[in-house]
Amino acid sequence: NKWVYLFEEGDAGMRNTLGGKGANLAEMTRLGLPVPQGFTITTQACTQYYEDGQNINDEIMEQILDHITKLEKITGKKFGDKENPLLVSVRSGARASMPGMMDTILNLGLNEEVVGTIAKKSGNPRWAWDCYRRFIQMYSDVVMEVGKKYFEELIDKMKAQKGVTEDVELTAEDLKELSDQFKAEYKNKIGSDFPTDPKEQLMGAVKAVFRSWDNPRANVYRRDNDIPYSWGTAVNVQMMAFGNMGDTSGTGVAFTRDPATGEKHIMGEFLLNAQGEDVVAGVRTPQHIDQLKSMMPEVYEQFLSICKKLENHYKDMQDMEFTIEDRKLYMLQTRNGKRTAFAALKIACDLVDEGMITEERAVSMIDPRNLDSLLHPTFDTNVLKDIKPIAKALAASPGAASGQVVFTAEDAKKWTLEGKTVVLVRLETSPEDIEGMKAAKGILTVRGGMTSHAAVVARGMGKCCVAGCSDIAMDEANKVFRLAGKEFREGDIISFDGTTGNIYEGEIPTVEANIVGEFGRIMGWADKYRTLKVRTNADTPYDAAKARELGAEGIGLCRTEHMFFESGRIDAFREMICSDTVEERETALAKILPVQQKDFEEIYEALEGNPVTIRFLDPPLHEFVPSDEADIEKLAKAKNKTVSQIKDIIQGLHEFNPMMGHRGCRLTVTYPEIAKMQTAAVIRAAINVKKAHPEWNLKPEIMIPLISELKELKFIKNIVVETAEAEIKAAGTSVEYEVGTMIEIPRACLLADEIAKEAEFFCFGTNDLTQMTFGFSRDDAGKFLDAYYDTKIFENDPFVKIDREGVGKLMEMACELGKKERPNLHIGICGEHGGDPSSVEFCHKIGLDYVSCSPFRVPIARLAAAQAAI
Ligand code: ADP
Ligand code: MG
Ligand code: MG
Repeated sequence: NKWVYLFEEGDAGMRNTLGGKGANLAEMTRLGLPVPQGFTITTQACTQYYEDGQNINDEIMEQILDHITKLEKITGKKFGDKENPLLVSVRSGARASMPGMMDTILNLGLNEEVVGTIAKKSGNPRWAWDCYRRFIQMYSDVVMEVGKKYFEELIDKMKAQKGVTEDVELTAEDLKELSDQFKAEYKNKIGSDFPTDPKEQLMGAVKAVFRSWDNPRANVYRRDNDIPYSWGTAVNVQMMAFGNMGDTSGTGVAFTRDPATGEKHIMGEFLLNAQGEDVVAGVRTPQHIDQLKSMMPEVYEQFLSICKKLENHYKDMQDMEFTIEDRKLYMLQTRNGKRTAFAALKIACDLVDEGMITEERAVSMIDPRNLDSLLHPTFDTNVLKDIKPIAKALAASPGAASGQVVFTAEDAKKWTLEGKTVVLVRLETSPEDIEGMKAAKGILTVRGGMTSHAAVVARGMGKCCVAGCSDIAMDEANKVFRLAGKEFREGDIISFDGTTGNIYEGEIPTVEANIVGEFGRIMGWADKYRTLKVRTNADTPYDAAKARELGAEGIGLCRTEHMFFESGRIDAFREMICSDTVEERETALAKILPVQQKDFEEIYEALEGNPVTIRFLDPPLHEFVPSDEADIEKLAKAKNKTVSQIKDIIQGLHEFNPMMGHRGCRLTVTYPEIAKMQTAAVIRAAINVKKAHPEWNLKPEIMIPLISELKELKFIKNIVVETAEAEIKAAGTSVEYEVGTMIEIPRACLLADEIAKEAEFFCFGTNDLTQMTFGFSRDDAGKFLDAYYDTKIFENDPFVKIDREGVGKLMEMACELGKKERPNLHIGICGEHGGDPSSVEFCHKIGLDYVSCSPFRVPIARLAAAQAAI
């Protein structure tokens, strides 16, 4: 096995083996750019290291040493040699860039003897001792995990002693003295002497890089960015270029285009007489790259031409690191630069206009997840950079919210009507809270995960939501919570960021989102190349219209129950629930029918003939009953019952496990009159709208939730068809409609061919399907999922990203079986996964017709669908 490659042996195509940094160092070498030479230990070696019980095996060890010899030949220097030592950096580099995963070690190969010799020989003792003290500092921190701060304290003490403020003002003598202090500190903390053998130093550093792949920071970053644990990281060992040799040396970073705006001009900073991270670490204020022009014009010109060359070569904006060693320029890194969503769109469009890339490439370049930030308000970054969050929770729905704390949905509504700006803070939300959620600028919950009620509804509304902040000690009754050692009462101002999950004390100004020209262009190209349709989950004409603006091609899920919570309507619905006889229930339903019919008419109007899928009543009935005494009395009066009779009925609705209880199609089996009413509303609305717009191809899709058995579907479909036909006949007209089912119970997947005998379409309800396939509740999973991540049993939240192996297998099976029975069966997905890029890709792969997601995720799904097709 080949575990190690010289830079001159690799190229950009070997990213999987060499990691991003290593592959690009190899590519720059190939392009003939001035790169300090070195070699890369492969990602496979990292995986092997873990397989060998965190040990570098003999074969890998041998190859590393062998490549040190090769590097000595290339550079003409010798590892550990006193006269002409080879000093190297040891740098991590995964396939995908993972900023800040591991700190780099510079100047490795130094020891007391070597440094003494080069200090004399070079005539630059300050440089030599600066290298040495840096090396001890970095090695101690990164390899031996002695905290950085001990060394920083020593530096500060030394500066105070000498009466200077900047590191560069310390003399060779000072730095020599510091090295001694550092080594003493090392011995004090570790109990042994600082290693002097360069080979021992090297192996320690390589191991530290491998180890860093598994540190908690890296694990969290991987989960957030969808990077598999199995990839491993490569290690780059590279000859040093010294930016700390004096004022003809320096180090810097630059972008070929502005990463914030996308403007086409070089953006960069550098520091003279500095090394490594000094520029980003802020030890001194760096200078603008333009100033290099007057200081070292030839170097500046050379750098500009390299920038151009790299951008043309990679056909994307580059983020580069460089070092100048005594007027000689070295390139240390290049990569496709990270950028704001705004800049990403501009750069992609500009590159197409400059003839550098194709439209397809432009579409593929944009990370769909970043589009979110373009569609929601954000905090003013200038203000944000000086403020520290007081807590962090799940980033459940993007956007930024700042306002006065209220603890009930009622108050949220009331205060907003009074003209106040509020954020709703609750243990968790329930369907009753919807109006309050709508009124609030944002929602913060103590419990619940990414698919909790609050999260799902907030995303649907495009409202900022931060969920599951378990650090909060909540006292809802007294309208107060404690967080970060402080008490927050009603009316106190807090802010939170649904994109990062950060929570702040006090007010932070927000900046409204605006959709600009490039956004539309990229979306247009995405639509051109995708085959998967994108619908939306929308329950109101308002949401539907918003989603259409964002490019939705229909409604994949209209949850009718949400309509019942609007003020005024809930009463009739509660009367229906608290009925003893069919007649009583029908009387109550008759009050709801015209209201629901009107909703559907408005939704059809908003969709202008595009498909609309209406799901029949799904949640357990107890979610709708009142808890408030006044409401119970009101209901009793309306029903001509006593308060205690109503309470008995409510009591009777209690279920031990409501999500697996009396809900979905089971409601229709027990109360067929509900389905009759809903069917009548769907069909009457269609008849009316068709009259007004005969040109539209109006064909409502009636979707029955939670089916697990053909006979169940058949029973309900009969009721639907009978009612629909009667309505159509009575109106003396014709209306087309379809009856299909959600596929959200594993049994329905297993028997999909049976179910397809009656179902005219399928739509995967992957929230429930995931919940039932894993057998854990989506509302409670938050409590234990962290332990699953820590133990690497899970790398992702299966409620966010489809579990392709299990849930995905069921989906594939259902598609295949269903289409065998009914070749023209159309199939979609309407779970939260419909807006997740990786899940969209999977849906494309298994041949679904459409994904349906909340309105604000529609652009993300369109782009992800295009990327899946390209
Ligand atoms: P990161 O991935 O965190 O950016 P790097 O490995 O790129 O870490 O290195 C950290 C810093 O050290 C960068 O400023 C880089 O340019 C510098 N550096 C790394 N290797 C060398 C080297 N061989 N010579 C000079 N500077 C180096
Ligand atoms: Mg770097
Ligand atoms: Mg469901």
